[in-house]
Amino acid sequence: MALIVQKYGGTSVADPDRIRAVAEHVAFTKRHGDDVVVVVSAMGKATDNLLKLANDVSRTQPGREMDMLLTTGERVSMALLCMALADVGVDAMSFTGSQVGIITDTVHMKAKILEVKGDRVREALAAGKVCVVAGFQGISTAKEITTLGRGGSDTTAVALAAALDADSCEIYTDVTGVFTADPRIVPQARKLQHVNFDEMLEMAGAGSKVLALRSVEFARNHNVPLHVRSSFTWEHGTWVTSQEPSMEDPIISGVVTDISEAKVTVVAVPDRPGISAALFEPLAGANVNVDMIVQNTSHDGTTDISFTMPKADVAAASAIVERVAAEVGARGVEHDAEIAKISLVGAGMKTSPGIAAKMFRVLADEGINIQMISTSTIRISVVTPVADLERASRALHSAFGLDSGQAYSAPLPERK
Ligand code: ADP
Ligand code: ASP
Ligand code: MG
Repeated sequence: MALIVQKYGGTSVADPDRIRAVAEHVAFTKRHGDDVVVVVSAMGKATDNLLKLANDVSRTQPGREMDMLLTTGERVSMALLCMALADVGVDAMSFTGSQVGIITDTVHMKAKILEVKGDRVREALAAGKVCVVAGFQGISTAKEITTLGRGGSDTTAVALAAALDADSCEIYTDVTGVFTADPRIVPQARKLQHVNFDEMLEMAGAGSKVLALRSVEFARNHNVPLHVRSSFTWEHGTWVTSQEPSMEDPIISGVVTDISEAKVTVVAVPDRPGISAALFEPLAGANVNVDMIVQNTSHDGTTDISFTMPKADVAAASAIVERVAAEVGARGVEHDAEIAKISLVGAGMKTSPGIAAKMFRVLADEGINIQMISTSTIRISVVTPVADLERASRALHSAFGLDSGQAYSAPLPERK
């Protein structure tokens, strides 16, 4: 008898029919003789709707109250799924993150899991029940309710799988696995049979939302194999494991696109020691996730500093950047939310020179302007205007030999 953690994302539980389909599948797994812990996301766009509601009500949004609000989305789905399970004769019990002892740090809206106690899950499993746990949430060391950042239900699932020493962790979503690119943007994307943790970490870090970054970190650190698959077709998906890529694997495993970031430029900053520290220290203190940073060479004793960060952090960052810019005597601050980050990821890059040059050539031939560049040993990222996203990613996907030869054919549910 195996213990399986199954995570169902928002589209997988978006309406009553979907919830009943998930209940059938959980029942099937349970009847097969396995123990099942289910982690659910909020239904469809419930989290987006809660965020919109908060924006409509107030400009003052204390993190504590936002987390109280956002955690309700997952509570709705966990209770409804347990009812649907009762209908198909499965004894199930729902739990909030706090009830199962998911202990986090105290950073509201992007808390990190510190520990998973899991006692109540173990007890319920021992009593033969299916456990349905609300994703994306925990309780902080200060006993406050926290959320884990967008997409955080993946992290709940992997953390629980690690704590319970589960045999596998299945991530059910609305595509049939991890692809060489987001099939919604690059229809020629190909499903990967296998991705290793390092590549998946780079893909998630570059902004591919098929798996949340922290969930991949957890999976790698605790060696939890992940199976990413579709709750619409139930076919076998993509395995994410520690297995190293083989010599036959292509150099580039995927093109990753990300439109969740915005760019800020501090214009004409005096070029002297301490300026970057003065800017980035307070941003770090406010938990702003600064990503790419570019500082231009100075001409007349001043320089421009540009950086990107999640759009969700712009509000927190703006006041800090404006203040520091004034303090250091910069000419001004410019914002650009119309950007896209496009990355090539592949373990083979380490030993294959020329990938960056080829990437820049492909973009140049398309007439696409590169605003920023950053690299790691197995990733190259560029920032371009968002209007060029589709053209750039499709051209790169073709040029690096990733096209499948046919457009993605499984259902791609609309996000309601
Ligand atoms: P869920 O609600 O199930 O967690 P997400 O929206 O978070 O689903 O993640 C699934 C989506 O990730 C897909 O619908 C797809 O558009 C997107 N995606 C981005 N990159 C990839 C990729 N490389 N492979 C598959 N899907 C991807
Ligand atoms: N409901 C949360 C979100 O939309 C968490 C998740 O779905 O993983 O981000
Ligand atoms: Mg997700």
